[in-house]
Amino acid sequence: MKTAIITLLALGVCLPLQAQDKLKPVSTSGNVEWQKEEMCQFVFFAVLEGLYRDGVQNEIVDAIIGEKIAKKGDKVKTHFVFRCKLCHATYEAFRTYRNRPAFMQTKGSSTFGKGADLALVTKLSSNDARTRIYTMGAMIRPWIMHRIKETRKTPEEKTAMKKNFIKYAQEGSELLSNHKRAKDGFYLDWSFYGSCQACEAAKDLGQAGF
Ligand SMILES: [Zn+2]
Repeated sequence: MKTAIITLLALGVCLPLQAQDKLKPVSTSGNVEWQKEEMCQFVFFAVLEGLYRDGVQNEIVDAIIGEKIAKKGDKVKTHFVFRCKLCHATYEAFRTYRNRPAFMQTKGSSTFGKGADLALVTKLSSNDARTRIYTMGAMIRPWIMHRIKETRKTPEEKTAMKKNFIKYAQEGSELLSNHKRAKDGFYLDWSFYGSCQACEAAKDLGQAGF
Protein backbone atom coordinates (compact mmCIF):
# COMPACT_ATOMS: atom_id res chain seq x y z
CA MET A 1 0.00 0.00 0.00
CA LYS A 2 2.77 2.34 1.05
CA THR A 3 4.61 1.56 -2.19
CA ALA A 4 1.44 2.20 -4.19
CA ILE A 5 1.10 5.68 -2.69
CA ILE A 6 4.74 6.46 -3.39
CA THR A 7 4.30 5.25 -6.96
CA LEU A 8 1.32 7.54 -7.44
CA LEU A 9 3.24 10.45 -5.99
CA ALA A 10 6.24 9.74 -8.17
CA LEU A 11 3.94 9.84 -11.16
CA GLY A 12 2.87 13.28 -10.13
CA VAL A 13 -0.82 12.40 -10.19
CA CYS A 14 -1.42 13.42 -6.61
CA LEU A 15 -2.42 16.97 -7.46
CA PRO A 16 -4.09 18.12 -4.22
CA LEU A 17 -0.95 17.19 -2.28
CA GLN A 18 1.15 19.04 -4.79
CA ALA A 19 -0.91 22.19 -4.30
CA GLN A 20 -0.47 21.91 -0.54
CA ASP A 21 3.26 21.75 -0.96
CA LYS A 22 3.14 25.10 -2.76
CA LEU A 23 5.66 24.17 -5.40
CA LYS A 24 6.86 27.14 -7.36
CA PRO A 25 5.38 27.19 -10.85
CA VAL A 26 7.82 25.56 -13.22
CA SER A 27 9.32 27.80 -15.84
CA THR A 28 10.51 26.45 -19.17
CA SER A 29 13.13 29.06 -19.93
CA GLY A 30 16.11 30.73 -18.28
CA ASN A 31 18.84 29.11 -16.20
CA VAL A 32 18.39 25.89 -14.28
CA GLU A 33 19.53 26.53 -10.71
CA TRP A 34 20.22 23.09 -9.29
CA GLN A 35 23.79 23.60 -8.09
CA LYS A 36 23.13 24.76 -4.55
CA GLU A 37 20.47 22.22 -3.69
CA GLU A 38 21.58 19.46 -1.35
CA MET A 39 19.65 16.68 -3.09
CA CYS A 40 21.01 17.69 -6.48
CA GLN A 41 24.57 17.67 -5.15
CA PHE A 42 23.92 14.29 -3.58
CA VAL A 43 22.78 12.84 -6.90
CA PHE A 44 25.62 14.56 -8.78
CA PHE A 45 28.25 12.98 -6.50
CA ALA A 46 26.49 9.60 -6.49
CA VAL A 47 26.58 9.46 -10.29
CA LEU A 48 30.12 10.81 -10.61
CA GLU A 49 31.33 8.31 -8.01
CA GLY A 50 29.50 5.44 -9.71
CA LEU A 51 31.03 6.31 -13.07
CA TYR A 52 34.54 6.25 -11.60
CA ARG A 53 33.95 3.16 -9.47
CA ASP A 54 32.64 1.18 -12.46
CA GLY A 55 35.14 2.75 -14.85
CA VAL A 56 32.41 3.47 -17.39
CA GLN A 57 33.77 3.87 -20.93
CA ASN A 58 33.51 7.12 -22.86
CA GLU A 59 31.44 5.47 -25.63
CA ILE A 60 28.72 4.82 -23.09
CA VAL A 61 28.92 8.31 -21.61
CA ASP A 62 28.79 9.89 -25.08
CA ALA A 63 25.56 8.05 -25.83
CA ILE A 64 24.04 9.63 -22.71
CA ILE A 65 25.29 13.20 -23.02
CA GLY A 66 23.90 13.67 -26.52
CA GLU A 67 27.22 13.69 -28.34
CA LYS A 68 25.41 13.28 -31.68
CA ILE A 69 22.94 16.09 -31.06
CA ALA A 70 24.06 19.20 -32.91
CA LYS A 71 22.24 21.87 -30.91
CA LYS A 72 23.93 22.47 -27.55
CA GLY A 73 20.71 23.18 -25.68
CA ASP A 74 19.14 19.93 -26.88
CA LYS A 75 21.93 17.56 -25.80
CA VAL A 76 20.37 16.98 -22.40
CA LYS A 77 17.07 15.96 -23.95
CA THR A 78 17.89 12.45 -25.18
CA HIS A 79 17.80 10.94 -21.67
CA PHE A 80 16.67 13.70 -19.31
CA VAL A 81 13.77 16.03 -18.69
CA PHE A 82 14.94 19.49 -19.74
CA ARG A 83 14.96 21.89 -16.75
CA CYS A 84 14.29 19.11 -14.19
CA LYS A 85 16.86 19.84 -11.51
CA LEU A 86 17.75 16.25 -10.64
CA CYS A 87 17.98 15.43 -14.33
CA HIS A 88 20.40 18.30 -14.87
CA ALA A 89 22.48 17.27 -11.83
CA THR A 90 22.72 13.75 -13.28
CA TYR A 91 23.54 15.00 -16.77
CA GLU A 92 26.30 17.29 -15.46
CA ALA A 93 27.87 14.40 -13.52
CA PHE A 94 28.15 12.47 -16.81
CA ARG A 95 29.65 15.54 -18.51
CA THR A 96 32.09 16.16 -15.68
CA TYR A 97 33.24 12.54 -15.79
CA ARG A 98 33.63 12.73 -19.58
CA ASN A 99 36.02 15.67 -19.14
CA ARG A 100 38.14 13.93 -16.49
CA PRO A 101 41.94 14.22 -16.75
CA ALA A 102 44.24 11.21 -17.01
CA PHE A 103 46.08 10.42 -13.77
CA MET A 104 49.72 11.53 -13.66
CA GLN A 105 52.43 8.87 -13.70
CA THR A 106 50.14 6.23 -15.20
CA LYS A 107 49.84 4.93 -18.72
CA GLY A 108 46.97 7.25 -19.38
CA SER A 109 44.56 5.67 -16.92
CA SER A 110 41.76 7.99 -15.86
CA THR A 111 39.23 5.89 -13.99
CA PHE A 112 38.98 2.92 -11.61
CA GLY A 113 36.62 0.09 -12.54
CA LYS A 114 36.78 -2.49 -15.32
CA GLY A 115 34.11 -0.79 -17.40
CA ALA A 116 30.55 -1.67 -18.30
CA ASP A 117 29.15 -3.86 -21.08
CA LEU A 118 29.61 -1.93 -24.33
CA ALA A 119 26.37 -3.46 -25.62
CA LEU A 120 24.77 -0.72 -23.52
CA VAL A 121 25.70 1.80 -26.22
CA THR A 122 23.12 0.32 -28.61
CA LYS A 123 20.39 0.42 -25.97
CA LEU A 124 21.33 3.93 -24.87
CA SER A 125 21.15 5.11 -28.50
CA SER A 126 17.84 3.34 -29.18
CA ASN A 127 15.11 5.21 -31.05
CA ASP A 128 12.72 3.90 -28.44
CA ALA A 129 12.70 6.45 -25.60
CA ARG A 130 11.73 3.90 -22.99
CA THR A 131 14.67 1.60 -23.82
CA ARG A 132 17.08 4.53 -23.82
CA ILE A 133 15.96 6.05 -20.56
CA TYR A 134 15.48 2.83 -18.62
CA THR A 135 18.97 1.66 -19.62
CA MET A 136 20.44 4.88 -18.24
CA GLY A 137 18.23 4.56 -15.15
CA ALA A 138 19.45 1.03 -14.49
CA MET A 139 22.97 2.47 -14.30
CA ILE A 140 22.35 5.43 -12.02
CA ARG A 141 19.74 4.15 -9.59
CA PRO A 142 22.05 1.64 -7.87
CA TRP A 143 24.67 4.40 -7.60
CA ILE A 144 22.23 6.63 -5.75
CA MET A 145 21.31 3.75 -3.41
CA HIS A 146 25.01 2.97 -2.95
CA ARG A 147 25.70 6.52 -1.78
CA ILE A 148 22.73 6.48 0.56
CA LYS A 149 24.11 3.32 2.20
CA GLU A 150 27.67 4.59 2.15
CA THR A 151 26.75 7.86 3.89
CA ARG A 152 24.94 5.87 6.59
CA LYS A 153 21.76 7.89 6.57
CA THR A 154 19.54 7.46 9.61
CA PRO A 155 16.01 6.13 9.03
CA GLU A 156 14.72 9.71 9.54
CA GLU A 157 17.15 11.08 6.97
CA LYS A 158 16.15 8.37 4.50
CA THR A 159 12.49 9.22 4.97
CA ALA A 160 13.28 12.91 4.42
CA MET A 161 15.24 12.06 1.27
CA LYS A 162 12.41 9.98 -0.07
CA LYS A 163 9.99 12.89 0.45
CA ASN A 164 12.40 15.21 -1.32
CA PHE A 165 12.80 12.83 -4.27
CA ILE A 166 9.02 12.76 -4.60
CA LYS A 167 8.88 16.58 -4.69
CA TYR A 168 11.50 16.71 -7.43
CA ALA A 169 9.63 13.98 -9.30
CA GLN A 170 6.44 16.07 -9.20
CA GLU A 171 8.29 19.03 -10.62
CA GLY A 172 9.94 16.86 -13.27
CA SER A 173 6.62 15.38 -14.27
CA GLU A 174 5.05 18.84 -14.62
CA LEU A 175 7.94 19.96 -16.77
CA LEU A 176 7.61 16.90 -18.96
CA SER A 177 3.91 17.66 -19.50
CA ASN A 178 4.82 21.23 -20.41
CA HIS A 179 7.39 20.02 -22.94
CA LYS A 180 4.83 17.69 -24.48
CA ARG A 181 2.20 20.41 -24.62
CA ALA A 182 4.77 22.69 -26.27
CA LYS A 183 5.26 19.85 -28.81
CA ASP A 184 8.96 19.51 -28.07
CA GLY A 185 9.87 16.70 -30.47
CA PHE A 186 12.30 15.17 -28.02
CA TYR A 187 9.52 14.29 -25.59
CA LEU A 188 6.53 13.35 -27.70
CA ASP A 189 7.17 9.61 -27.30
CA TRP A 190 7.92 9.77 -23.55
CA SER A 191 4.55 8.29 -22.75
CA PHE A 192 5.88 5.39 -20.66
CA TYR A 193 5.74 5.22 -16.94
CA GLY A 194 8.40 6.92 -14.84
CA SER A 195 10.48 9.25 -16.92
CA CYS A 196 12.83 10.93 -14.47
CA GLN A 197 15.34 8.29 -13.46
CA ALA A 198 17.04 10.19 -10.65
CA CYS A 199 13.65 10.90 -9.12
CA GLU A 200 12.75 7.23 -9.45
CA ALA A 201 15.23 6.68 -6.63
CA ALA A 202 12.26 7.48 -4.38
CA LYS A 203 10.82 4.15 -5.45
CA ASP A 204 14.07 2.31 -4.70
CA LEU A 205 14.02 3.83 -1.23
CA GLY A 206 10.40 2.76 -0.92
CA GLN A 207 11.30 -0.78 -1.89
CA ALA A 208 14.14 -0.76 0.61
CA GLY A 209 11.50 -0.14 3.26
CA PHE A 210 11.70 3.63 3.73
ZN1 LIG B 1 14.30 14.62 -13.66
